[in-house]
Amino acid sequence: MFPWQKNDPKQPAPDDTRPVRRDPQDLSGQVAVISGSTSGIGLALAKATAARGADVVMNGLGDPAEIERVRAGLEASCGVRVRYHGADMRNGDEVADLVAFAKHQLGRLDILVNNAGVQHVEAIEKFPTDQWERIIAINLSSAFYAIRAAVPIMKAQGRGRIVNVASAHGLVASPFKSAYVAAKHGVVGLTKTVALELARDNITCNAICPGFVETPIVEKQIADQARTHGISKERVLDEVILKKQPTKRFVTTDELAGIYLYLVSDLGASANGACFSIDGGWTAE
Ligand code: NAD
Repeated sequence: MFPWQKNDPKQPAPDDTRPVRRDPQDLSGQVAVISGSTSGIGLALAKATAARGADVVMNGLGDPAEIERVRAGLEASCGVRVRYHGADMRNGDEVADLVAFAKHQLGRLDILVNNAGVQHVEAIEKFPTDQWERIIAINLSSAFYAIRAAVPIMKAQGRGRIVNVASAHGLVASPFKSAYVAAKHGVVGLTKTVALELARDNITCNAICPGFVETPIVEKQIADQARTHGISKERVLDEVILKKQPTKRFVTTDELAGIYLYLVSDLGASANGACFSIDGGWTAE
């Protein structure tokens, strides 16, 4: 109340009895499934989720001993339950089992992050069919399988948050990445469709579209691009990878965690069917 309002009988008295509102980004009591969370962006989002108090189901490939070390470390440092499910995200039955596992083991499912992804860089006329099918399955179909399995649980709970990790390549293209660009454009389309279908169910579905982030998938691309263009890795960084990113630096996983935490929080309730470009200005051109 401003001083000039003090003697105004129409102004309500300040409500000092109102409880202090909990941190709207506090996720305690919630359960998240994050595909491809044994590495890179997915692992960073799993850490951000656990640090905010939610239980997490990790998924992804990797050395079992290393995965267990990370899982146990996250559980101990954040004081939440962290489970691991090894679903191959290409397989619809295994993805459905991953979602059922979260509900069965941790009691509910509030947040679904479709993050698992792979890349293959090759000219269209030489692009191998098995790579095309692998990329479409892991980068696109897996999100469909997981959303289909998660929605009935979220509807029954009356709330849900779905975040799809797409890419700047969900919005624009680059040469030699036909399968990846097609899959990520598909993820953006899936995001919008699901958002419209679930808008009245208190379930949101959004996409994050990162530019280049320094993770294993990019390290492999640097090597592949060097081979495809016949140039050194240093030149690939300068002339190919960061050429598109006006900030001339990689996006950090912390910067992605920031938008992710907003989207899954109560503050993100009206963000729906949107694609959030976190790309240093790449897609502004
Ligand atoms: P990453 O290689 O570090 O992580 C990929 C994750 O997916 C790993 O956990 C891996 O085990 C998992 N995965 C791969 N195949 C799988 C399968 N069949 N079943 C289950 N899990 C599988 O790469 P990242 O950069 O962290 O990529 C994560 C997501 O972010 C991907 O969808 C990627 O397309 C997207 N992305 C990355 C960048 C970038 O520059 N790094 C930019 C835009 C979008």
